[in-house]
Amino acid sequence: MSPAKARVPAIEGWFTLDSDAPALIGSRCASCGTFTFPKETVFCRNPACSGTEFADTELSRTGRVWSYTNACYQPPKPYVAADPYVPFALAAVELAPEQMVVMGQVATGVTVDDLSVGCEVELVLETLYEDDDHEYLVWRWRPTGPAPDDRRTPAHPGPGHPPAADGEEGGSRA
Ligand SMILES: [Zn+2]
Repeated sequence: MSPAKARVPAIEGWFTLDSDAPALIGSRCASCGTFTFPKETVFCRNPACSGTEFADTELSRTGRVWSYTNACYQPPKPYVAADPYVPFALAAVELAPEQMVVMGQVATGVTVDDLSVGCEVELVLETLYEDDDHEYLVWRWRPTGPAPDDRRTPAHPGPGHPPAADGEEGGSRA
């Protein structure tokens, strides 16, 4: 019925909209080469540098988890929380070539149980919220190892096998 919604960034200019290989857009100091995200436009963050010229640059699409946390409280904008609020994981990801750490929410379906310090993640775009005409996208970090679902192979028989007469699942811990 309705045509595909236009995919637009929830925050203008912070990342590319390449659906296959999105990248965050940071800046690089023309004087000392320091990378920043979000983009720096006034003063270089390197205290030893007085550079004031910066070039937009696409940052690495993959990195390693430096730290992560479960966010159990509603975050400030531009995050849009589910209603009712559902805790989600935030990851601080180290981008080695740029020598920087970028915060982000992790991809839908990924929890802190799927993360570990040092695990590799890649940048993906997901819909933050939508209206009648647009999907508003934001970046997320997604582990590049086995999909989280692969680790949750059902331990009990699939459909077609009636549940045990007792109806209790206990006692079969693997
Ligand atoms: Zn600089």
